[in-house]
Amino acid sequence: MDTYLSILKKYWGFDDFRGIQRDIIESIGSGRDTLGLMPTGGGKSITFQVPALARPGMCLVITPLIALMKDQVEALNSRGIKAACVHSGLSHEQTLVILDNCVFNAYKFLYISPERLSSELFLKKLGHMNVSFITVDEAHCICQWGYDFRPSYLQIAQVRKIKPNCPILALTATATPKVTKEIQKNLDFKEENVFRMSFYRQNLAYKVLHADATILGLLQLLNAYEGSCIVYTRNRQKCEDLAKQLVEYGFTATYYHAGLKHGEKDARQNAWLKGSHRIMVATNAFGMGIDKPDVRLVVHVDLPDSIEEYFQEAGRAGRDGKPASSVIVMDGKELELLGRRVKQHFPDLDYVRKVYEDVCCFLQLAVGDGLNVTREFQMERFCVTFHHHPLILTSALDILDKAGYIIYRDAEEGTSRLRIDATRNQLFGVLNSQDEQIMLAMLRRYGGIFVDFVFIDEDMISRDTGLSMDVIYQDLKELARKGLISYIPRKHIPLITFLQRRVMKEELEFPYGIYAMRKDAYEYRLNALREYCLNTEECRSRLLLQYFGETKVHRCGICDVCQFDDTTSITEQEYMQIRERIVSQLQHGPIKVSELDIKGIRPYSLTWALDYMRAKEELVADGPFIRLASGN
Ligand code: ADP
Repeated sequence: MDTYLSILKKYWGFDDFRGIQRDIIESIGSGRDTLGLMPTGGGKSITFQVPALARPGMCLVITPLIALMKDQVEALNSRGIKAACVHSGLSHEQTLVILDNCVFNAYKFLYISPERLSSELFLKKLGHMNVSFITVDEAHCICQWGYDFRPSYLQIAQVRKIKPNCPILALTATATPKVTKEIQKNLDFKEENVFRMSFYRQNLAYKVLHADATILGLLQLLNAYEGSCIVYTRNRQKCEDLAKQLVEYGFTATYYHAGLKHGEKDARQNAWLKGSHRIMVATNAFGMGIDKPDVRLVVHVDLPDSIEEYFQEAGRAGRDGKPASSVIVMDGKELELLGRRVKQHFPDLDYVRKVYEDVCCFLQLAVGDGLNVTREFQMERFCVTFHHHPLILTSALDILDKAGYIIYRDAEEGTSRLRIDATRNQLFGVLNSQDEQIMLAMLRRYGGIFVDFVFIDEDMISRDTGLSMDVIYQDLKELARKGLISYIPRKHIPLITFLQRRVMKEELEFPYGIYAMRKDAYEYRLNALREYCLNTEECRSRLLLQYFGETKVHRCGICDVCQFDDTTSITEQEYMQIRERIVSQLQHGPIKVSELDIKGIRPYSLTWALDYMRAKEELVADGPFIRLASGN
């Protein structure tokens, strides 16, 4: 048996490689720079983990999501493979220990978040490490033309300089042909070398439903399908409101967005995972790393910013291979709103300059000051004082961030900070056993905590103590209330760090790749999404895959366009039958759409029939209810 296969069997117990896994493994295994395009769930991890185990030295894995990083490290450790991670939640001492261990070959894998790559400590230690190859996960983040550009990814070029002979394995689940080229260029590939797995999902029916009002369209869908469902919205408030509305209509629904506290997020997510709540109404903060195979329906009531995001979110339906649908519900306003997004995301540069100046005033930084200064940023107070709109302000801060003037950490991304204000004796004199457990874990992890604020990671403390994140959060809040500690939880206070001394606003520079090009790219992506929504001729599956550069795609036969072409539209006879059933149910007065008996009716036909009856004014929608128009 060959080495790769025996490693796969030994550590994972799988019989063989899947799809293009072996191609990628052999390519990187032979020392060639390699780009692998695989859809989520395609089995990317194996493609770097197996060859890394077959080669001497340690594999450096660059990946942006701390939560996923920790999961992977744990998964490797549980298989008896030595792995560690370095991210912003660790103290300096902890980082130092891990990096020193790497120099002494203690691990086969070191996971690192891209922000850490620029730290001098890391770059110094890296020179002494024996690195087999470098894996860049979510590699599209290195492209300014791509939908999720992260400046910290450009730092990978530095790493390459220090390790010029280490091949790179870049992996991503979303890349258009243009992005595919840019990834290889920005990662300095010695030659082009791409392996692509088809993104075709034969069980997934893509649809676009044009409805008078979003909620009506949504209700029709929820009634027409059974099983677990995700409804994506863009806005936190709308997310909560919609979930409440659905509960009023008799569905079991919960919601999730980045503004929730940790404990609450977990509870809501679990309720949905277990199936006690059928519907998860969520913003795009939900879904990464969640593997629920039996989602039957994903609905978008607001459009995302790109086909890339749509495809990722839509793809969370039907992971089990059984029939599933991903539907966009659009009312007339949706496309109009889409047009306004460009200005919201890319405000004029004069405005961005003004924001910079206002922020400096607000944080009391004089021209020439501010290098490496981090301040809390009370966004609401700032908006009121300087008359800014939060949404456009956030875009301006993001542009300043991408241009390298500041680091802007939105509330949910920040890291908590803690300082113990009591003396050791005072502290341990008054703690109950739970407090004590938490504080001991804190002291073990974080040195210097009696002297000054240190960044802490409640997740680590949760792992150390076995207590839930919420319990820890509440406990720390209580200790802070008693004046024993100062605790600045993450989530609540955005932070701004100045990476350069304050300059005059006229001196700010915004290179082409940071502003103009990204604005063009953003518009390009929105247009592609608009075309997808308005399309009535091309198979939707084919359209999506062509966007990602797949050429040989046959018609799916199950999207709304294909269905309309062959079996349907709905026949006269089918319509009459549905109409009769609806009329007979409404004979005795209005009923909720959610209460209609629609067993056996195809969703497409039901939608069409209800629309048609409304258009003919036989049917009237009245809030959650529908009723027959008088005279029918
Ligand atoms: P991705 O990172 O591409 O989303 P993962 O690496 O998490 O995907 O793999 C998805 C799932 O597929 C995991 O449960 C993994 O164990 C499984 N898997 C990967 N490769 C194989 C294989 N060759 N045989 C069987 N299962 C596999």
